[in-house]
Amino acid sequence: MGALVLLSGVGESLDQQFRSSRDSLRSHAASGEVHVVEIDARSLDRIGRWPLPRSVHGALIDQLHDAGARSIAFDVDFSAVSEPSEDAKMAAALKRAGGSVILPTISRAAGSGSAEFNESAPIKPFRDHAFLGAVNVVPDTDGFIRRMLLGVETFGVPRPALPTLLAESTAKIGQSFDVDYAIEPSSIPRHSLIDVIDGKVLAGALAGKRVIIGGTAIEIGDRYPVPRYGVIPGVVIQALAAETLLKGKVPETWNGAWLLGMVLLLTGWTLRPGLRARRISALAGAAVAIPMLPIVPEAFFAATVAVAPALAAALAAVGIAAAGILADRARERALTDPDTGLPNTRALVASIRSLPRASIVVARIDRFAAIASGLGPDAAGKLILRVADRLRYANGERDIFRTDEASLAWLEDAGEEATLGQRLDALAAVMRAPVECGRPVDVPLTFGHVRADGQDTKQAVANATLAAQQASRKGTRWESFTEADGAAADWQLSLVGELKTALASGEIHNWYQPKLDLISGEVVGAEALVRWVHPTRGAIMPDSFIPLIEEHGRARDLTAHVIGQALQDALDWQASGFTLGVAVNVSATLLADHEFIEMVGQTLQASGLPTSRVTIEVTESAAMNDPKRAIAALESWSALGVSISIDDYGTGQSSLAYLQKLPATELKIDKSFVQTIGSDRRNAIMVRSTVALAHELGMRVVAEGIEDAECLQLLSEMGCDTAQGYHIGRPMSASMFAAFVAERSRRAA
Ligand code: C2E
Ligand code: CA
Repeated sequence: MGALVLLSGVGESLDQQFRSSRDSLRSHAASGEVHVVEIDARSLDRIGRWPLPRSVHGALIDQLHDAGARSIAFDVDFSAVSEPSEDAKMAAALKRAGGSVILPTISRAAGSGSAEFNESAPIKPFRDHAFLGAVNVVPDTDGFIRRMLLGVETFGVPRPALPTLLAESTAKIGQSFDVDYAIEPSSIPRHSLIDVIDGKVLAGALAGKRVIIGGTAIEIGDRYPVPRYGVIPGVVIQALAAETLLKGKVPETWNGAWLLGMVLLLTGWTLRPGLRARRISALAGAAVAIPMLPIVPEAFFAATVAVAPALAAALAAVGIAAAGILADRARERALTDPDTGLPNTRALVASIRSLPRASIVVARIDRFAAIASGLGPDAAGKLILRVADRLRYANGERDIFRTDEASLAWLEDAGEEATLGQRLDALAAVMRAPVECGRPVDVPLTFGHVRADGQDTKQAVANATLAAQQASRKGTRWESFTEADGAAADWQLSLVGELKTALASGEIHNWYQPKLDLISGEVVGAEALVRWVHPTRGAIMPDSFIPLIEEHGRARDLTAHVIGQALQDALDWQASGFTLGVAVNVSATLLADHEFIEMVGQTLQASGLPTSRVTIEVTESAAMNDPKRAIAALESWSALGVSISIDDYGTGQSSLAYLQKLPATELKIDKSFVQTIGSDRRNAIMVRSTVALAHELGMRVVAEGIEDAECLQLLSEMGCDTAQGYHIGRPMSASMFAAFVAERSRRAA
């Protein structure tokens, strides 16, 4: 970049701008050695003629000579003859001055675009008694006068320039120099020609000075644009050029290559690998300073240097380096989880490359969506970080990656698997204490493990996550992924895909399990339990497809179907003469789904079945998840007129005091307690006290999982209201259930 700018010269105008700025900084007054006698508007007015009569010039020469001027130079064209008497008067004055007056020669291009010059010199009588100095001005392409020549050669004759003569400097033919525009033109002493002729200029003012005479009146037109000062008279430019040379040195221009070289060294240092941000700031700082650097040689050595190439190199380097840093940051960002700043799956993929025979362990937070929605996004991020901290601490400071919303993962070296179970147990122990993020939160973690050798890392992470999910489903602490798991996952996925057709074709239908009233001894209703009889896979139990369907957000479709069917069947039983209630299970995911609740309300209304005959069963854990929301949701359900039963009671951690706040009408004690009341005294006490307390709170009690007569007898004695279990009746089809009820009532009769 630097070389390009240097060689092509494209930075020239930029350099000129910088030069002007530096000149402004260095701005100073002229030495006062050079005076201008100006042919101004006032002089023209008084004399009343242009060109001025030559006698006036003669008088001026006499005056200046008498005043003791060191040199007298004219920037006035004398190349044509005028009236002979006038010309003679001036020639005489020139002679009196001793031939020391400097008169101008002007070269002009012979034609437009021509390389040849015509020189117009003063007429012969003048030439004989004067020095000649060239007053060529050489504008830059933009019309500005920046440089002047020391001397010119015309027709093989070398001729010093007028400022060169004035400054008594050595004339090198063809050499040009920069006029020093730091010198303020206004500080050059100027005298009106008419005042000099009238003797109004104090005698001492011009003694020993170098005087240059030229036109400044606008009418004369000899004006040029220059940097910093706009358009100024040519005579002032000549005076400035003379002032420039009077400083003692012909200004020179150093080659910009050395500055460029220095900047390139600096650039190399900046761009070398490593932590670069600070070095780049330094280089950027240097780049800002570069345009001002030449002020030093300009002030002390009358030399300047082009800065554009060096500046271009420095800026290019800053740009490249900054782009590099941005690219690095982007790369880093791509490897980082935005919420927590933990490394992500991509980072894991990258780091597994150095551990070719590693395995991956995923720690998955169960029900993370529910926890996160309760905590809010910031606290959820914090929760993940805290969990990651604990995992890292308990795990020998291994890197912890966040592989999805709810999952953290780390890498294990091959050969460490033998102790994995032990270590995961220890980890689980560490995780048992609640995590503090605003409030203490229990974090249910399960682990999944997979051997990563040979397979795609992302797939391996997915497999380990699946294994962790399975552990949660099975209630174990951790699971290792096997090929069979993969096949099962595949199987499950396709099952979800088949849901719609299965609902429509009747593959999915309700079975009913009788509910026995323990006081009357009559079957008073049934619980609807969904069944899927798959054409190729056979009967699939609800426990193996309902969680799946919930995960894929399809619980609405399924539950609506079950409810619709249950209402229809209850109506059928009614038509056969049996007044029977029906209970349906509602997933936790649907509990607070108000759109769904509304839909069920409409279905209920359309069916015409008295709503009091319908019960919804909600698991205790669903009602516990977010108490406020649960209460509000159950109130909406209750408003439909249905009864609400708390299912699986005893497996969660709710207190009866809490349950009292719910608009529930029924408590359904989990079969794990009921089945053992004959053998386990503590469970018996639990069931008995629950029955008593529930009654006190105005709730009915249902016991499920009754498998024998003894159990039924005990429950009856404990005051339980309703019983359900294999001993009374297994789940059966709707028509079998109708037959079952008919049979019982016949026997009772
Ligand atoms: P749940 O609500 O606790 O249902 C009772 C489960 O216990 C049923 O299993 C039932 O067949 C079984 N059971 C009944 N009596 C006995 C007994 O004496 N001994 C033993 N060991 N088990 C007994 P099932 O039908 O496999 O249903 C399992 C779970 O699936 C249900 O547990 C319920 O949570 C869920 N489920 C079933 N149908 C639906 C549904 O339509 N929607 C939703 N959301 N969940 C459903
Ligand atoms: Ca149930």
